[in-house]
Amino acid sequence: MAGKGDLLYAWTMDDELREKAETGGAVTALLRHALESGMVDAVFAVRKGADVYDALPALITDPAEIGGIAGSLHCGTLLLPKQMRRCLLATEPNMRIATVLKGCDVKAIYEMAKRNQVNLDNIIIIGLNCGGTIRPETARIIVREKLGLDPDSVVKEEIDKGKFIVVTKDGEHASVSIDELEEGAEDLLGDPGLGRRSNCRRCKIKIPRQADLACGNWGVIGEKAGNATFVEVCSEKGANLLNAAVKTGAVATEPANPKGIDIRGKVENAMLKLGDKWRARYFGALGEGTERLNKIREQTSRCIKCYSCIENCPICYCVECSTRKDYLVEPGVIPPPFMFHLIRFAHISDSCVNCGQCEELCPVEISNSVFMHAIQTDLEELFGFHPGEDMTPPVLALVEESAERKRLEATGSDQIFDIFR
Ligand code: FAD
Repeated sequence: MAGKGDLLYAWTMDDELREKAETGGAVTALLRHALESGMVDAVFAVRKGADVYDALPALITDPAEIGGIAGSLHCGTLLLPKQMRRCLLATEPNMRIATVLKGCDVKAIYEMAKRNQVNLDNIIIIGLNCGGTIRPETARIIVREKLGLDPDSVVKEEIDKGKFIVVTKDGEHASVSIDELEEGAEDLLGDPGLGRRSNCRRCKIKIPRQADLACGNWGVIGEKAGNATFVEVCSEKGANLLNAAVKTGAVATEPANPKGIDIRGKVENAMLKLGDKWRARYFGALGEGTERLNKIREQTSRCIKCYSCIENCPICYCVECSTRKDYLVEPGVIPPPFMFHLIRFAHISDSCVNCGQCEELCPVEISNSVFMHAIQTDLEELFGFHPGEDMTPPVLALVEESAERKRLEATGSDQIFDIFR
Protein backbone atom coordinates (compact mmCIF):
# COMPACT_ATOMS: atom_id res chain seq x y z
CA MET A 1 0.00 0.00 0.00
CA ALA A 2 1.35 3.42 -0.97
CA GLY A 3 1.45 6.18 1.63
CA LYS A 4 2.28 9.88 1.81
CA GLY A 5 5.92 10.49 0.93
CA ASP A 6 6.37 7.35 -1.22
CA LEU A 7 8.27 7.62 -4.50
CA LEU A 8 7.07 5.15 -7.13
CA TYR A 9 7.15 4.20 -10.76
CA ALA A 10 3.58 3.72 -12.04
CA TRP A 11 2.08 2.74 -15.36
CA THR A 12 -1.31 1.96 -16.89
CA MET A 13 -2.25 -1.66 -17.57
CA ASP A 14 -4.17 -0.57 -20.69
CA ASP A 15 -1.90 -0.91 -23.77
CA GLU A 16 -4.07 1.38 -25.91
CA LEU A 17 -3.86 4.11 -23.30
CA ARG A 18 -0.10 3.70 -22.90
CA GLU A 19 0.32 4.31 -26.65
CA LYS A 20 -1.40 7.69 -26.37
CA ALA A 21 0.15 8.71 -23.06
CA GLU A 22 3.27 10.79 -22.49
CA THR A 23 5.22 8.32 -20.36
CA GLY A 24 3.57 5.53 -18.35
CA GLY A 25 -0.01 6.73 -18.77
CA ALA A 26 -0.47 6.57 -14.99
CA VAL A 27 -2.05 10.04 -14.91
CA THR A 28 -4.81 9.20 -17.38
CA ALA A 29 -5.38 5.78 -15.83
CA LEU A 30 -5.78 7.37 -12.38
CA LEU A 31 -8.21 9.93 -13.76
CA ARG A 32 -10.26 7.20 -15.42
CA HIS A 33 -10.31 5.18 -12.20
CA ALA A 34 -11.46 8.22 -10.18
CA LEU A 35 -14.32 8.74 -12.64
CA GLU A 36 -15.33 5.08 -13.08
CA SER A 37 -15.32 4.37 -9.36
CA GLY A 38 -17.48 7.40 -8.56
CA MET A 39 -14.77 9.14 -6.51
CA VAL A 40 -15.43 12.20 -8.67
CA ASP A 41 -18.22 13.47 -10.93
CA ALA A 42 -15.90 14.86 -13.62
CA VAL A 43 -12.34 15.20 -14.83
CA PHE A 44 -11.08 18.64 -15.81
CA ALA A 45 -7.86 18.66 -17.82
CA VAL A 46 -6.55 19.80 -21.21
CA ARG A 47 -6.62 18.24 -24.64
CA LYS A 48 -5.14 19.06 -28.01
CA GLY A 49 -6.96 21.79 -29.93
CA ALA A 50 -6.54 22.87 -33.56
CA ASP A 51 -2.90 21.70 -33.76
CA VAL A 52 -0.03 20.47 -31.56
CA TYR A 53 0.62 23.99 -30.30
CA ASP A 54 -2.95 24.49 -29.13
CA ALA A 55 -4.47 23.35 -25.80
CA LEU A 56 -8.14 23.45 -24.85
CA PRO A 57 -9.83 22.86 -21.50
CA ALA A 58 -11.54 19.44 -21.42
CA LEU A 59 -14.43 18.43 -19.19
CA ILE A 60 -14.90 14.65 -19.15
CA THR A 61 -17.77 12.86 -17.47
CA ASP A 62 -17.74 9.69 -19.62
CA PRO A 63 -14.77 7.40 -18.75
CA ALA A 64 -14.78 6.11 -22.36
CA GLU A 65 -13.60 9.56 -23.51
CA ILE A 66 -10.59 9.77 -21.20
CA GLY A 67 -8.07 8.59 -23.85
CA GLY A 68 -8.62 11.89 -25.67
CA ILE A 69 -6.72 13.85 -23.03
CA ALA A 70 -3.61 11.64 -22.73
CA GLY A 71 -0.23 13.18 -23.59
CA SER A 72 1.59 16.41 -22.64
CA LEU A 73 1.14 19.70 -24.48
CA HIS A 74 4.19 21.90 -23.84
CA CYS A 75 2.71 24.86 -25.69
CA GLY A 76 -0.50 24.61 -23.65
CA THR A 77 -0.40 27.76 -21.58
CA LEU A 78 -3.90 27.73 -20.07
CA LEU A 79 -4.37 28.53 -16.41
CA LEU A 80 -6.64 25.61 -15.69
CA PRO A 81 -8.18 26.43 -12.26
CA LYS A 82 -9.45 29.77 -13.55
CA GLN A 83 -11.08 28.00 -16.50
CA MET A 84 -12.50 25.38 -14.15
CA ARG A 85 -14.07 28.05 -11.98
CA ARG A 86 -15.44 29.87 -15.01
CA CYS A 87 -16.78 26.88 -16.98
CA LEU A 88 -17.88 24.59 -14.22
CA LEU A 89 -17.83 25.68 -10.62
CA ALA A 90 -19.71 28.93 -11.25
CA THR A 91 -22.83 26.80 -11.93
CA GLU A 92 -21.92 23.55 -10.13
CA PRO A 93 -19.97 24.67 -7.03
CA ASN A 94 -20.23 21.30 -5.27
CA MET A 95 -19.09 19.14 -8.17
CA ARG A 96 -16.34 16.65 -7.23
CA ILE A 97 -13.50 16.93 -9.69
CA ALA A 98 -10.17 15.28 -10.48
CA THR A 99 -7.83 17.63 -12.30
CA VAL A 100 -4.30 17.73 -13.71
CA LEU A 101 -2.28 20.84 -12.86
CA LYS A 102 1.25 22.07 -13.44
CA GLY A 103 3.05 24.05 -10.69
CA CYS A 104 1.63 27.51 -11.35
CA ASP A 105 -1.88 26.02 -11.70
CA VAL A 106 -1.53 24.33 -8.32
CA LYS A 107 -0.38 27.56 -6.70
CA ALA A 108 -3.31 29.35 -8.32
CA ILE A 109 -5.89 26.84 -7.06
CA TYR A 110 -4.65 27.30 -3.47
CA GLU A 111 -4.97 31.09 -3.72
CA MET A 112 -8.44 30.67 -5.27
CA ALA A 113 -9.43 28.34 -2.42
CA LYS A 114 -8.41 31.02 0.10
CA ARG A 115 -10.75 33.41 -1.72
CA ASN A 116 -13.63 30.88 -1.60
CA GLN A 117 -13.63 30.37 -5.36
CA VAL A 118 -13.01 26.63 -5.16
CA ASN A 119 -13.40 24.02 -2.43
CA LEU A 120 -10.28 21.85 -2.25
CA ASP A 121 -12.22 19.17 -0.30
CA ASN A 122 -14.04 18.39 -3.56
CA ILE A 123 -10.96 18.34 -5.78
CA ILE A 124 -8.29 15.67 -6.36
CA ILE A 125 -5.19 17.33 -7.78
CA ILE A 126 -2.77 15.34 -9.91
CA GLY A 127 0.22 17.62 -10.24
CA LEU A 128 2.63 17.54 -13.18
CA ASN A 129 6.29 18.36 -12.85
CA CYS A 130 6.93 21.19 -15.26
CA GLY A 131 10.14 22.59 -16.71
CA GLY A 132 8.21 25.28 -18.57
CA THR A 133 5.93 26.00 -21.50
CA ILE A 134 6.40 27.79 -24.81
CA ARG A 135 3.82 30.17 -26.26
CA PRO A 136 2.15 28.68 -29.36
CA GLU A 137 3.21 31.57 -31.61
CA THR A 138 6.80 31.37 -30.30
CA ALA A 139 6.86 27.62 -30.96
CA ARG A 140 5.82 28.24 -34.57
CA ILE A 141 8.64 30.78 -35.02
CA ILE A 142 11.18 28.33 -33.53
CA VAL A 143 10.04 25.56 -35.88
CA ARG A 144 10.17 27.84 -38.93
CA GLU A 145 13.29 29.87 -38.20
CA LYS A 146 15.49 27.62 -36.06
CA LEU A 147 14.53 24.18 -37.34
CA GLY A 148 13.76 25.14 -40.97
CA LEU A 149 10.48 23.21 -40.96
CA ASP A 150 6.88 24.05 -41.78
CA PRO A 151 5.11 24.50 -38.38
CA ASP A 152 1.98 22.89 -39.84
CA SER A 153 3.90 19.70 -40.64
CA VAL A 154 4.61 19.04 -36.94
CA VAL A 155 2.58 16.22 -35.38
CA LYS A 156 4.36 15.95 -32.02
CA GLU A 157 6.31 18.32 -29.81
CA GLU A 158 8.08 17.80 -26.50
CA ILE A 159 10.56 19.41 -24.15
CA ASP A 160 13.05 16.84 -22.93
CA LYS A 161 16.61 17.02 -21.54
CA GLY A 162 16.78 20.76 -22.17
CA LYS A 163 15.69 20.54 -25.81
CA PHE A 164 12.57 21.50 -27.74
CA ILE A 165 11.96 18.49 -29.97
CA VAL A 166 9.49 18.12 -32.84
CA VAL A 167 8.45 15.26 -35.11
CA THR A 168 6.88 15.96 -38.52
CA LYS A 169 4.20 13.96 -40.32
CA ASP A 170 7.00 12.53 -42.54
CA GLY A 171 8.74 11.17 -39.45
CA GLU A 172 11.53 13.79 -39.46
CA HIS A 173 12.93 14.58 -35.95
CA ALA A 174 14.49 17.97 -35.19
CA SER A 175 15.53 19.69 -31.98
CA VAL A 176 17.09 22.83 -30.58
CA SER A 177 18.55 23.55 -27.15
CA ILE A 178 16.31 25.69 -24.92
CA ASP A 179 19.40 27.40 -23.44
CA GLU A 180 20.50 28.39 -26.93
CA LEU A 181 17.07 29.84 -27.71
CA GLU A 182 16.90 31.79 -24.45
CA GLU A 183 20.47 33.03 -24.32
CA GLY A 184 19.64 35.10 -27.42
CA ALA A 185 17.33 37.30 -25.31
CA GLU A 186 18.69 40.84 -25.49
CA ASP A 187 15.98 43.02 -24.00
CA LEU A 188 14.09 41.02 -21.40
CA LEU A 189 11.45 43.71 -20.87
CA GLY A 190 11.01 44.36 -24.59
CA ASP A 191 11.84 41.35 -26.71
CA PRO A 192 12.68 38.33 -24.52
CA GLY A 193 13.61 36.28 -27.60
CA LEU A 194 12.63 32.67 -28.17
CA GLY A 195 12.27 29.83 -25.69
CA ARG A 196 10.03 29.41 -22.67
CA ARG A 197 7.60 32.04 -21.40
CA SER A 198 9.22 34.65 -19.15
CA ASN A 199 7.33 33.44 -16.05
CA CYS A 200 8.40 29.82 -16.73
CA ARG A 201 12.04 30.92 -16.83
CA ARG A 202 11.65 32.50 -13.38
CA CYS A 203 9.56 29.63 -11.98
CA LYS A 204 10.75 27.77 -8.91
CA ILE A 205 7.99 25.21 -8.54
CA LYS A 206 9.12 22.30 -10.65
CA ILE A 207 7.60 19.44 -8.64
CA PRO A 208 4.22 20.53 -7.23
CA ARG A 209 4.24 18.79 -3.86
CA GLN A 210 1.13 20.63 -2.64
CA ALA A 211 -0.85 18.49 -5.12
CA ASP A 212 -2.20 15.09 -4.02
CA LEU A 213 0.20 13.29 -6.37
CA ALA A 214 3.16 14.83 -8.22
CA CYS A 215 3.85 13.07 -11.54
CA GLY A 216 6.59 13.38 -14.12
CA ASN A 217 9.28 11.70 -16.15
CA TRP A 218 12.39 12.87 -14.27
CA GLY A 219 14.10 9.96 -12.51
CA VAL A 220 12.56 7.12 -14.53
CA ILE A 221 15.62 5.12 -15.55
CA GLY A 222 16.58 1.61 -16.63
CA GLU A 223 14.07 -0.60 -18.39
CA LYS A 224 11.18 1.57 -17.24
CA ALA A 225 12.57 4.72 -18.93
CA GLY A 226 9.86 6.14 -21.19
CA ASN A 227 7.36 3.51 -20.01
CA ALA A 228 6.54 4.59 -16.50
CA THR A 229 5.48 7.74 -14.69
CA PHE A 230 7.42 8.88 -11.61
CA VAL A 231 4.83 9.45 -8.87
CA GLU A 232 5.48 11.23 -5.57
CA VAL A 233 2.61 10.61 -3.16
CA CYS A 234 1.95 13.96 -1.48
CA SER A 235 -1.25 13.42 0.54
CA GLU A 236 -3.54 10.76 1.98
CA LYS A 237 -6.07 11.65 -0.71
CA GLY A 238 -3.44 10.94 -3.38
CA ALA A 239 -2.46 7.66 -1.69
CA ASN A 240 -6.11 6.56 -1.57
CA LEU A 241 -6.59 7.18 -5.29
CA LEU A 242 -3.38 5.36 -6.20
CA ASN A 243 -4.10 2.39 -3.92
CA ALA A 244 -7.65 2.05 -5.23
CA ALA A 245 -6.44 2.15 -8.85
CA VAL A 246 -3.77 -0.49 -8.13
CA LYS A 247 -6.37 -2.71 -6.40
CA THR A 248 -8.61 -2.78 -9.48
CA GLY A 249 -5.65 -3.44 -11.80
CA ALA A 250 -5.91 -0.07 -13.58
CA VAL A 251 -2.39 0.90 -12.56
CA ALA A 252 0.73 -1.05 -11.56
CA THR A 253 3.54 0.33 -9.40
CA GLU A 254 7.00 -0.50 -8.11
CA PRO A 255 9.36 1.46 -5.84
CA ALA A 256 11.35 4.07 -7.76
CA ASN A 257 14.97 3.16 -8.52
CA PRO A 258 17.19 4.87 -5.85
CA LYS A 259 19.55 6.08 -8.58
CA GLY A 260 16.55 7.55 -10.41
CA ILE A 261 15.45 9.34 -7.21
CA ASP A 262 18.93 10.82 -6.96
CA ILE A 263 18.90 11.98 -10.60
CA ARG A 264 15.45 13.51 -10.18
CA GLY A 265 16.69 15.46 -7.14
CA LYS A 266 19.69 16.75 -9.04
CA VAL A 267 17.63 17.83 -12.05
CA GLU A 268 15.16 19.60 -9.79
CA ASN A 269 17.99 21.46 -8.03
CA ALA A 270 19.57 22.46 -11.34
CA MET A 271 16.19 23.82 -12.52
CA LEU A 272 15.73 25.80 -9.29
CA LYS A 273 19.17 27.37 -9.76
CA LEU A 274 18.23 28.23 -13.33
CA GLY A 275 15.08 29.90 -11.97
CA ASP A 276 17.25 32.00 -9.62
CA LYS A 277 19.50 32.98 -12.52
CA TRP A 278 16.53 34.17 -14.58
CA ARG A 279 15.03 36.04 -11.62
CA ALA A 280 18.32 37.90 -11.20
CA ARG A 281 18.37 38.77 -14.90
CA TYR A 282 14.73 39.88 -15.14
CA PHE A 283 14.60 41.77 -11.86
CA GLY A 284 18.04 43.24 -12.60
CA ALA A 285 16.74 44.55 -15.93
CA LEU A 286 13.86 46.16 -14.05
CA GLY A 287 16.20 48.00 -11.67
CA GLU A 288 15.17 49.26 -8.25
CA GLY A 289 13.33 52.20 -6.69
CA THR A 290 12.61 55.12 -8.99
CA GLU A 291 14.27 53.43 -11.97
CA ARG A 292 11.90 50.46 -11.61
CA LEU A 293 8.91 52.74 -11.15
CA ASN A 294 9.79 54.71 -14.28
CA LYS A 295 10.21 51.55 -16.35
CA ILE A 296 6.82 50.28 -15.21
CA ARG A 297 5.21 53.68 -15.94
CA GLU A 298 6.79 53.77 -19.38
CA GLN A 299 5.57 50.30 -20.38
CA THR A 300 2.12 50.65 -18.86
CA SER A 301 1.62 53.88 -20.82
CA ARG A 302 0.73 51.49 -23.71
CA CYS A 303 -2.21 50.09 -21.70
CA ILE A 304 -5.59 50.16 -23.45
CA LYS A 305 -7.50 49.25 -20.26
CA CYS A 306 -9.00 46.08 -21.74
CA TYR A 307 -9.06 44.46 -18.24
CA SER A 308 -7.57 41.21 -19.59
CA CYS A 309 -4.88 41.21 -16.84
CA ILE A 310 -7.60 41.52 -14.22
CA GLU A 311 -10.09 39.07 -15.71
CA ASN A 312 -7.47 36.35 -16.18
CA CYS A 313 -5.74 36.73 -12.83
CA PRO A 314 -6.35 33.89 -10.35
CA ILE A 315 -6.04 36.35 -7.44
CA CYS A 316 -8.47 39.10 -8.64
CA TYR A 317 -11.84 38.26 -7.15
CA CYS A 318 -12.96 41.51 -5.48
CA VAL A 319 -16.71 41.97 -5.75
CA GLU A 320 -16.24 45.67 -6.39
CA CYS A 321 -13.05 46.21 -8.33
CA SER A 322 -11.37 49.46 -7.27
CA THR A 323 -9.99 50.00 -10.79
CA ARG A 324 -13.61 50.63 -11.89
CA LYS A 325 -14.26 53.36 -9.31
CA ASP A 326 -14.46 56.86 -10.84
CA TYR A 327 -12.86 58.56 -7.85
CA LEU A 328 -9.78 56.33 -8.10
CA VAL A 329 -9.37 55.91 -11.85
CA GLU A 330 -10.78 58.61 -14.11
CA PRO A 331 -13.08 56.86 -16.60
CA GLY A 332 -12.80 57.21 -20.39
CA VAL A 333 -9.04 57.89 -20.38
CA ILE A 334 -6.64 55.78 -22.48
CA PRO A 335 -4.02 54.99 -21.34
CA PRO A 336 -5.59 54.89 -17.89
CA PRO A 337 -3.97 56.89 -15.09
CA PHE A 338 -1.10 55.00 -13.43
CA MET A 339 -3.39 54.53 -10.43
CA PHE A 340 -5.06 51.71 -12.43
CA HIS A 341 -1.82 49.68 -12.22
CA LEU A 342 -0.98 50.78 -8.68
CA ILE A 343 -4.31 49.37 -7.52
CA ARG A 344 -3.49 46.03 -9.16
CA PHE A 345 -0.06 45.95 -7.53
CA ALA A 346 -1.45 46.93 -4.13
CA HIS A 347 -4.29 44.39 -4.20
CA ILE A 348 -2.66 41.26 -5.55
CA SER A 349 1.11 41.42 -5.62
CA ASP A 350 1.49 39.71 -2.23
CA SER A 351 -0.26 36.64 -3.68
CA CYS A 352 1.02 36.60 -7.27
CA VAL A 353 1.68 32.96 -8.30
CA ASN A 354 3.70 33.91 -11.40
CA CYS A 355 1.30 32.12 -13.76
CA GLY A 356 2.07 34.72 -16.44
CA GLN A 357 -1.50 35.09 -17.73
CA CYS A 358 -1.48 38.90 -17.26
CA GLU A 359 1.44 39.08 -19.69
CA GLU A 360 0.48 36.22 -22.00
CA LEU A 361 -2.95 37.69 -22.69
CA CYS A 362 -2.01 41.40 -22.77
CA PRO A 363 -2.84 42.65 -26.28
CA VAL A 364 -0.15 45.36 -26.10
CA GLU A 365 2.51 43.05 -24.70
CA ILE A 366 3.26 44.81 -21.44
CA SER A 367 5.68 42.79 -19.24
CA ASN A 368 2.98 42.61 -16.58
CA SER A 369 4.09 39.35 -14.99
CA VAL A 370 7.67 40.58 -14.55
CA PHE A 371 6.43 43.66 -12.67
CA MET A 372 4.03 41.75 -10.44
CA HIS A 373 6.46 38.90 -9.78
CA ALA A 374 9.27 41.31 -8.87
CA ILE A 375 7.04 43.03 -6.30
CA GLN A 376 5.81 39.66 -4.96
CA THR A 377 9.39 38.45 -4.53
CA ASP A 378 10.27 41.57 -2.53
CA LEU A 379 7.14 41.13 -0.38
CA GLU A 380 7.98 37.47 0.19
CA GLU A 381 11.36 38.52 1.51
CA LEU A 382 9.78 41.18 3.75
CA PHE A 383 6.83 39.22 5.17
CA GLY A 384 7.82 35.57 4.61
CA PHE A 385 4.52 34.79 2.89
CA HIS A 386 4.84 32.16 0.12
CA PRO A 387 1.77 32.28 -2.14
CA GLY A 388 0.18 29.04 -3.35
CA GLU A 389 2.11 26.70 -1.10
CA ASP A 390 -0.56 26.03 1.51
CA MET A 391 -3.71 27.60 2.98
CA THR A 392 -1.89 30.35 4.96
CA PRO A 393 -3.85 33.62 4.49
CA PRO A 394 -2.13 36.28 2.35
CA VAL A 395 -0.47 39.39 3.81
CA LEU A 396 -3.43 41.58 2.83
CA ALA A 397 -5.81 39.41 4.84
CA LEU A 398 -4.15 40.94 7.91
CA VAL A 399 -5.57 44.35 6.93
CA GLU A 400 -9.09 44.98 8.09
CA GLU A 401 -10.35 46.15 4.71
CA SER A 402 -13.68 47.69 5.75
CA ALA A 403 -11.97 49.71 8.51
CA GLU A 404 -9.35 50.90 6.02
CA ARG A 405 -12.02 51.92 3.51
CA LYS A 406 -13.91 53.88 6.19
CA ARG A 407 -10.71 55.68 7.07
CA LEU A 408 -10.08 56.64 3.44
CA GLU A 409 -13.67 57.84 2.92
CA ALA A 410 -13.57 59.87 6.13
CA THR A 411 -10.38 61.71 5.19
CA GLY A 412 -11.55 62.33 1.60
CA SER A 413 -8.06 62.09 0.31
CA ASP A 414 -5.13 59.87 0.97
CA GLN A 415 -1.54 60.57 0.18
CA ILE A 416 -1.21 57.34 -1.84
CA PHE A 417 -3.95 58.46 -4.21
CA ASP A 418 -2.58 61.98 -4.63
CA ILE A 419 0.97 61.22 -5.72
CA PHE A 420 0.37 60.54 -9.42
CA ARG A 421 -2.34 63.05 -10.28
P1 FAD B 1 -0.63 11.05 -19.45
O1 FAD B 1 -1.38 9.81 -19.05
O2 FAD B 1 -0.17 11.17 -20.85
O3 FAD B 1 -1.53 12.31 -19.05
C1 FAD B 1 -1.06 13.60 -19.23
C2 FAD B 1 -2.02 14.56 -18.59
O4 FAD B 1 -1.46 15.87 -18.69
C3 FAD B 1 -3.38 14.63 -19.27
O5 FAD B 1 -4.37 14.58 -18.28
C4 FAD B 1 -3.41 16.00 -19.95
O6 FAD B 1 -4.69 16.58 -19.93
C5 FAD B 1 -2.47 16.80 -19.07
N1 FAD B 1 -1.80 17.91 -19.76
C6 FAD B 1 -1.22 17.90 -20.98
N2 FAD B 1 -0.69 19.10 -21.26
C7 FAD B 1 -0.96 19.90 -20.20
C8 FAD B 1 -0.68 21.25 -19.90
N3 FAD B 1 -0.01 22.03 -20.72
N4 FAD B 1 -1.12 21.75 -18.71
C9 FAD B 1 -1.81 20.98 -17.85
N5 FAD B 1 -2.09 19.67 -18.10
C10 FAD B 1 -1.67 19.14 -19.24
N6 FAD B 1 7.85 15.99 -16.15
C11 FAD B 1 9.10 16.03 -15.64
O7 FAD B 1 9.48 15.13 -14.90
N7 FAD B 1 9.93 17.08 -15.92
C12 FAD B 1 9.55 18.13 -16.70
O8 FAD B 1 10.32 19.06 -16.94
C13 FAD B 1 8.23 18.14 -17.22
N8 FAD B 1 7.76 19.20 -17.94
C14 FAD B 1 6.46 19.21 -18.35
C15 FAD B 1 5.96 20.35 -18.99
C16 FAD B 1 4.62 20.41 -19.38
C17 FAD B 1 4.09 21.65 -20.02
C18 FAD B 1 3.78 19.29 -19.16
C19 FAD B 1 2.34 19.34 -19.59
C20 FAD B 1 4.27 18.16 -18.53
C21 FAD B 1 5.60 18.11 -18.10
N9 FAD B 1 6.11 17.00 -17.41
C22 FAD B 1 7.39 17.01 -16.92
C23 FAD B 1 5.25 15.84 -17.11
C24 FAD B 1 5.34 14.73 -18.17
O9 FAD B 1 5.40 15.27 -19.47
C25 FAD B 1 4.10 13.82 -18.11
O10 FAD B 1 2.93 14.58 -18.18
C26 FAD B 1 4.08 13.02 -16.82
O11 FAD B 1 5.23 12.18 -16.77
C27 FAD B 1 2.82 12.14 -16.76
O12 FAD B 1 2.93 11.17 -17.75
P2 FAD B 1 1.71 10.19 -18.04
O13 FAD B 1 2.07 9.30 -19.20
O14 FAD B 1 1.31 9.52 -16.77
O15 FAD B 1 0.59 11.23 -18.46
